[in-house]
Amino acid sequence: MKIYEECKGAHTIAIGGHVRPDGDCVGACLAMKMYLQKRMPEAKITVYLEKPSEIFSLLQGFDEIDSTFAKPAEPVDVFLCLDCDKSRLGDAESIFDEAKKTVNIDHHVSNARGTGMVNYVVPTASSASELVFDVLEEEYLDEEIAKALYVGIIHDTGVFHYSNTSPKTMQIGAKLISFGFDFTRIIGETFYEKTYHQNQILGRALLESILFMNGQCIVSSIDKKTMDFYEVTSKDMDGIASQLRQTKDVECAIFMYEIEPLVYKVSLRSGGKVDVSKVAEYFGGGGHVRAAGCTLNGTNHDVINNLSVHIEKQLLEAEG
Ligand code: AMP
Ligand code: MN
Ligand code: MN
Repeated sequence: MKIYEECKGAHTIAIGGHVRPDGDCVGACLAMKMYLQKRMPEAKITVYLEKPSEIFSLLQGFDEIDSTFAKPAEPVDVFLCLDCDKSRLGDAESIFDEAKKTVNIDHHVSNARGTGMVNYVVPTASSASELVFDVLEEEYLDEEIAKALYVGIIHDTGVFHYSNTSPKTMQIGAKLISFGFDFTRIIGETFYEKTYHQNQILGRALLESILFMNGQCIVSSIDKKTMDFYEVTSKDMDGIASQLRQTKDVECAIFMYEIEPLVYKVSLRSGGKVDVSKVAEYFGGGGHVRAAGCTLNGTNHDVINNLSVHIEKQLLEAEG
């Protein structure tokens, strides 16, 4: 698929990604906007996203992201939904629903069929940013577009170390760094560097984690009061679930934090034995085999009990 063919002739284009946008989501949306604006200088192109973390402000177009979700006067000609299905677009979903044409570009196995009129969903792709690279014409790439795609790819692959990294991912990475931006600084500042408060909440989550199922699973939960104490928000929780999963012999990690009283945002991570996308889907969420998420109601004990039944079942099946 080439995205220009899908957008040709459009006067207004909207681009959106999922709620609580991560690096892949921000990188894919901004790269897509930069490319299309270069290809179609006359078009009015708007990126709709909840306010992303400031670490991504080094990307061009960050300041023009519309986080008010101001509804355009007329339905847009094309809506591009990136890195999620339409139900996770948050307040942009109504703009999507009214659009004359919708395109869904995603890599979540839980969205394998796609939710657009045109769909490009590749569950084996490392990231939506890798797919954006696929659909644009390489001669339009420049340093700023390359930087945004690179940020997207490093965030979803854990800097090329998760199993979703393919030879193709590395080849794309090689092309991107050939534009000469300071990738060491970008990886450091957007991926590894944490604020003092982020490190404190990570420490707290690790300190209070509990092993179960003979050490094959680990769980940790942070309530709203604790988040307020450390002055952190959902933007500060990236990476905690993956860190929990890196505990020796742990197959599956559950990390949850309270977003509203008795409502928990859950992150699941797996070493491959458990398909956490299936677990998350059962509770109305989704994701990938090794990384998935959902939102559950109840106390943290209710949430753990509900999730662990499904995880234990899969682990027992895997053991035969
Ligand atoms: P997280 O634990 O939020 O970092 O998410 C892990 C992976 O699952 C990411 O690729 C998310 O986009 C995806 N994911 C998280 N929550 C959901 C959801 N409710 N529906 C579909 N995919 C999700
Ligand atoms: Mn994402
Ligand atoms: Mn992604």
